[in-house]
Amino acid sequence: MENCLFCQIAAGQIPAAKVYEDDQVLAFLDISQTTKGHMLLIPKKHVRNVLEMDGELAQTVFARLPKLARALQQATKASGMNIINNNEEIAGQTVFHAHIHLIPRYGLDDGLQIHFTAHEPDGSALSRLAEQISSEVRK
Ligand code: AMP
Ligand code: ZN
Repeated sequence: MENCLFCQIAAGQIPAAKVYEDDQVLAFLDISQTTKGHMLLIPKKHVRNVLEMDGELAQTVFARLPKLARALQQATKASGMNIINNNEEIAGQTVFHAHIHLIPRYGLDDGLQIHFTAHEPDGSALSRLAEQISSEVRK
């Protein structure tokens, strides 16, 4: 897609520190290096985010993850890794070409902070919501 940064990187029109490439996907180092080795995995085909992926493209992209994650872990000797995907602006997406972040972790103050706020669960509301989502999945 014209004017898409990651399409341009996939096409080799903009330089990137490439890690892995085949005919379907590209992995390269994120320019922000939130932690050392922060890497992105993208499909070469332009889709906005995971919400726009079909199962086949998701299978192609996600199948590449474990090997890349292990390679990144080995190369950086990180203690662990967060694998993150942001969908839409409210979720922190800034580049609207689907991508998965692989962020090696070295310590609690290494540059990435994730905080899950727990809310008191309402059992019947949870069941209703689960049923609602379940019926959407079956459509
Ligand atoms: P997100 O905020 O989830 O959309 O992530 C977009 C990511 O793309 C950010 O972490 C940016 O640092 C990264 N990024 C932006 N421009 C480039 C670039 N030219 N090369 C590599 N990574 C980039
Ligand atoms: Zn694109």
